Amino acid sequence: MWSSKSERVEVKVDEKSFEEKVCDVLVIGGGGAGLRAAIEAHDKKANTLVVCKSLLGKAHTVMAEGGIAAALGNVDPEDGWQVHFSDTIVEGQYLSNWRMAEIFAKEAIERVYELERYGALFDRTPEGKISQRPFGAHTYRRLCHIGDRTGLELIRTLEDQVIARGIPFMDEVMVTSIIKDGGGGRAAAALGIDIRTGMLILFRFKAVILATGGCGKVYEVTSNSYESTGDGVSMAYRAGAELMDMEMIQFHPTGMIYPAGVRGMLVTEAVRGEGGILTNAKGERFMTKYDPKRMELSARDVVARAIYSEIVAGRGTKNGAVYLDISHRGADYIKKKLPSMYDQFLEFAGVDITKERMEVAPTVHYQMGGVRVDPETGETSVRGIYAAGEVASGLHGGNRLGGNSLSDILVFGRRAGGAAADVAAGMDVPEFDRKELESEVGRVLSPFSSAGNANPFYLKEAIAKNMWKHVGIMRNEADLTAGLKELEAISTEARKSKAVGARAYNQSWLDTLQVWDMILVSEAIIRSALERKESRGAHTRSDFPEKSEEWLMNIITVQKGEKMTHELRPVPKLPPELAALIKE
Ligand SMILES: Cc1cc2nc3c(=O)[nH]c(=O)nc-3n(C[C@H](O)[C@H](O)[C@H](O)COP(=O)(O)OP(=O)(O)OC[C@H]3O[C@@H](n4cnc5c(N)ncnc54)[C@H](O)[C@@H]3O)c2cc1C
Repeated sequence: MWSSKSERVEVKVDEKSFEEKVCDVLVIGGGGAGLRAAIEAHDKKANTLVVCKSLLGKAHTVMAEGGIAAALGNVDPEDGWQVHFSDTIVEGQYLSNWRMAEIFAKEAIERVYELERYGALFDRTPEGKISQRPFGAHTYRRLCHIGDRTGLELIRTLEDQVIARGIPFMDEVMVTSIIKDGGGGRAAAALGIDIRTGMLILFRFKAVILATGGCGKVYEVTSNSYESTGDGVSMAYRAGAELMDMEMIQFHPTGMIYPAGVRGMLVTEAVRGEGGILTNAKGERFMTKYDPKRMELSARDVVARAIYSEIVAGRGTKNGAVYLDISHRGADYIKKKLPSMYDQFLEFAGVDITKERMEVAPTVHYQMGGVRVDPETGETSVRGIYAAGEVASGLHGGNRLGGNSLSDILVFGRRAGGAAADVAAGMDVPEFDRKELESEVGRVLSPFSSAGNANPFYLKEAIAKNMWKHVGIMRNEADLTAGLKELEAISTEARKSKAVGARAYNQSWLDTLQVWDMILVSEAIIRSALERKESRGAHTRSDFPEKSEEWLMNIITVQKGEKMTHELRPVPKLPPELAALIKE
């Protein structure tokens, strides 16, 4: 549908066409994964450069609320990496890469202590240890937190470290494409736009790390920030890298429902972790039907489906939601443990959560799928391209546990940074393919010479509405096929998308390029969802309601010629010593 050869204009480039920057390791993304990767690469003596499309410190990670999962055992001494490993595999519905889960569960502990050494101020237990709260489907109390502003403290701390080390960064730079070397086998350069001036920048490097976050903005109702348009997944795919399990999109059970402007905004799982109770419009505590043992602290996919089912069955509120109540914990406790939630509801919805119930409904929150990476190094299937954080796949399988992303971005950000620096130490900056660069410059500038006048802002909206309508919590072949058809129509329109005005701060230009990425990512999600003919984790098919052993497969998406193709690959089998740790 959307090919990497779509819409180009002929250009010849010379040294005046762009500014050139050369480094050993280029890190694309200033979220937790990108910053931790940059620290590691720099500490391993690689000349490292960070670029991000918003301002440094504003990355999506800053929004993280509930906490960071690591089996410190501070509150529940029985906890250990082995239990965290088991929880991650079981709740990932056995699609996770076991080696990634093992590395993750073991190393998350040290990454949290390291963050503390870097200066993060965690909430404390009465004895002065890092405090840990319960979260859905974690066997023990495991989420280290700073009230409900954990992401803010994480980013602040890492940013301090980056600045203290003098690691150079360029913000408000949107990278659009990876360029290969002459032989086409290795990544050699990246093309970017300086958003402030509209000038093109050519980054030349020995290795590049994609830490570009997720793609939640391809959905209408989402907790994600405006940045999450799936650029990294699209760039990697266009450069020939394999994607994996793109159908696995997490619907968080609790998003705000009104006012319209904040629909989808996250209501952190910490509300349920701190004792929040879900009821339907009839006042029934409905989780007794769906998971009587774990109740509100069941896995996210289970709670999201439960809320969805209550609403569809007509037991929702007038606003199409259910109630979440934390008021029984008392005003002082709520204001201390959930200060952002208190402010958010009071300011946006006029609801005082210390006295009143919240109305909540599912919202798109996270991509479990993404670029396929090597578990040890984060290298993708294209040499020289590494990926870490939400853009990468493999750890969370069919359903991510709350809190596992913040530890994921530190563990695998650090690993990717280290591996990229090691590779860079033994090589020269490769030559890039000039023809490929010219072709990419042509693609990137083509919106200015478009004969059409389609407005990319409306196209973004059309993509998001289509995905919400046809590729939601409950899927089936007819809806998915209709979604693909509608996406094709949007894609035809998108070829006529036009950038108007000068290049500096030109939102219509940036939006057009993002629309193209969003179409590609949406197509990968829909086609993978059509491919997986079973219900597993976040992917529920009403026409294939059972989970099937035969489907213990990762779905690989890769470009062959101009075609998006799929391959089923059996999930690597757990070795016996790790299989022995699994407790359902
Ligand atoms: C409201 C909310 C609350 C959450 N709470 C928690 C929680 O409590 N615990 C938990 O574990 N997880 C939580 N999550 C999930 C978690 O925050 C994210 O998965 C995680 O922060 C992703 O980090 P990242 O470094 O991979 O990407 P991001 O933080 O998304 O950073 C991506 C970076 O890439 C840059 N970028 C993107 N595209 C380009 C481009 N084309 N060119 C240049 N730069 C680019 C962006 O500017 C940004 O700097 C929450 C998510 C949300 C939305």
